[in-house]
Amino acid sequence: MISVEIKTILEIVFISCLFCKGIIRLFKTFDYFRVLKIFLLKVYKHRSTAFSHYIYPSLVWKIPAKEKHIYLTFDDGPTPHVTEKVLDLLKEFGVKATFFCVGKNVKNYQHIYLKILNDGHAVGNHTQNHVNGWKTSADKYISEVEEASKHISSKLFRPPYGKLSPVQILKLKKIYKIVMWSCLSGDFDQSLNIEHSIKQLKNASQPGAIIVFHDSKKAERNLFEILPEYLQYLASEGFVTKAL
Ligand SMILES: [Zn+2]
Repeated sequence: MISVEIKTILEIVFISCLFCKGIIRLFKTFDYFRVLKIFLLKVYKHRSTAFSHYIYPSLVWKIPAKEKHIYLTFDDGPTPHVTEKVLDLLKEFGVKATFFCVGKNVKNYQHIYLKILNDGHAVGNHTQNHVNGWKTSADKYISEVEEASKHISSKLFRPPYGKLSPVQILKLKKIYKIVMWSCLSGDFDQSLNIEHSIKQLKNASQPGAIIVFHDSKKAERNLFEILPEYLQYLASEGFVTKAL
């Protein structure tokens, strides 16, 4: 006769063996490369990493702050209808933000640019034609920024796609504060999971965080699904949203 205790021990051993066998099988069939790729893409697309802070420590990734201050930023405008709708939302919630404008858009939609300023928001330079720093020579890149500066009065600069070469950084730093981000909303991503994005934004909402949205046609659908809920969240958590 086997005692109850021994039976229980045998059961535990048996179930453990089955469990281990299952785990081993799972490990053998697991596509590590795919998981790593998805993880890196998600991190790259939606969060600045500690890694990038170390590579570019002289760029601004967050604002030193003890109070619950958050810095909302909007890239790529002004865009008719989209920027104006963003301005209405910001006014409704009584918050200030920073708009990193593309020079050619300011030239084409001067009245929207002036409305951004009249509403008390800050502006920054985002190059004349939204050029990629990794595909543009340093001289050409600087002339892009200079061209945009004829339309945008600001000492703030954000590189399109977050891409800059070390030489471009050295040259721009003499004049501009180069502003990167703590968290990308991912609103430009057509396959974005809205709930996931809002969760990421809430997690990233720490004192001094810099958050990126886009007042562009491409981001419009996602932007207006995310932004009202996020502004509501910031208000309910007592965050003060400021311009840079
Ligand atoms: Zn951009």
